[in-house]
Amino acid sequence: MEFRDLLRFRHCGRTVYTLHGPAGLRCPVCGLAVRLGLMEAPIRIQTPFRDGHRTTCCFLITSRHGAAGFSEENESELHVGVSNSEGVVFSYTESGVQRQQQGWELSIVVPLVAPSNDSLSFRTLWDEQLETYSRLNTWTAGRFQEQREFGSCCYGFALSFINHVMRPEGSQPISRERFTCWYVLPRMETTSRYLSVYQHVCQHGYYSTAE
Ligand SMILES: [Zn+2]
Repeated sequence: MEFRDLLRFRHCGRTVYTLHGPAGLRCPVCGLAVRLGLMEAPIRIQTPFRDGHRTTCCFLITSRHGAAGFSEENESELHVGVSNSEGVVFSYTESGVQRQQQGWELSIVVPLVAPSNDSLSFRTLWDEQLETYSRLNTWTAGRFQEQREFGSCCYGFALSFINHVMRPEGSQPISRERFTCWYVLPRMETTSRYLSVYQHVCQHGYYSTAE
């Protein structure tokens, strides 16, 4: 399933969502053309999904079961990894660390590196460290169950790598709770909201609310 951007605008005293399409927008509630006045100007809501293989040096969240895995009831189906500078995604699984060039096309992306920091030497160092880190004895297939008991697995691999490369000397590592709260949960909430509106728009042509 492909996900497109949505348009949000106010009309008929309602907030209306439709698929982002060509100009000449009509309000699906009343059928009238939408004027591009200041108060009614449509706002484009981007799909929260990105192709993880087109990212560099990012934390990625994907689902083993397509978009449905991103809904709140299915969070155990989520899988996380870290991309290198060429979009190869490293993640810890029952078979050890995987290096994948496909399979992460539907990802939620947390950028880890400021664009100003994104030099060639930085990317080279990142790739080397990710490769070295993936070879550590901690992340073997045999130790996956052991890691699972600590509740770590894929998340533990990604987060401890982030702490390994990004932590300024002497500072405390970012905890799983804090990372989740600051970087993951807000994106998951946005995604969940987008998905519920998007599914409604696909079924009914639009979604509108009184707000
Ligand atoms: Zn209308």
